[in-house]
Amino acid sequence: MIEINNLGKYFGDHKVLSDISLEVKKGDVFGIVGHSGAGKSTLLRCLNGLESYSEGSVRVGGKEVKDLDESELKLLRRDMGMIFQNFNLMNRKDVYENILFPLKVWGTPKNEAAARADELLELVGLTGKKHEKVRNLSGGQKQRVGIARALALNPEILLCDEATSALDPKTTISILELLMDINKKLNVTIIVVTHQMEVVKMICNKVIILDGGEIVASGETDKLFLAPGEELRKLITDDY
Ligand code: ATP
Ligand code: MG
Repeated sequence: MIEINNLGKYFGDHKVLSDISLEVKKGDVFGIVGHSGAGKSTLLRCLNGLESYSEGSVRVGGKEVKDLDESELKLLRRDMGMIFQNFNLMNRKDVYENILFPLKVWGTPKNEAAARADELLELVGLTGKKHEKVRNLSGGQKQRVGIARALALNPEILLCDEATSALDPKTTISILELLMDINKKLNVTIIVVTHQMEVVKMICNKVIILDGGEIVASGETDKLFLAPGEELRKLITDDY
């Protein structure tokens, strides 16, 4: 589904990603972890064409991302929902309007869009908050709106960039449970960028560890944590 081979990315003279190779299969919950500045967000943005890259290849559904034209990129992004640490919602609008937004952009007929929004509200457990302004919601509720909006167009892949970093531990667990539910019930492949090892342990079946733009460890989460190498041990014991 996603195949990256020997990806290299520069900002000016600064090489921020180096020789990245990985494969994400349908149904994976794939973790990308590492310290601040390791290149996690940049790697995620190479996947949906928000960043260019000069070395190697990034293939999504068999297509090289850097070769896509504007209309193909639009389709790629429709198929990859994204959620963020700071939610990126329209705070002065209500929950319903936020979820409707991508459906409107893609010209979904009104009745269909309304039904889809209701379905999503139920999925994320916010039916009672349909007409609440986003600015009045808690962090966890805002992220639920973010997830509903990201799923509006039925993407195959959900990209999560530090989606739980602004949340307290209890709320984090409830959001992770929702993501696991979405992965299992809707068969959505999920890529989780995080600096929180607990998040990886709880939901990721595979993980890579980035340091200074390079992969320093990778594999199935269970196996990696059973026999953590030096890099992983450093990350587990580090206090962020
Ligand atoms: P964080 O955990 O803080 O979000 P990250 O792992 O997501 O960090 P990136 O945001 O991918 O890290 O940044 C990787 C490196 O690339 C950093 O050194 C950063 O300063 C640099 N960088 C990111 N975006 C740009 C940009 N638009 N222009 C120049 N340098 C950039
Ligand atoms: Mg980042």
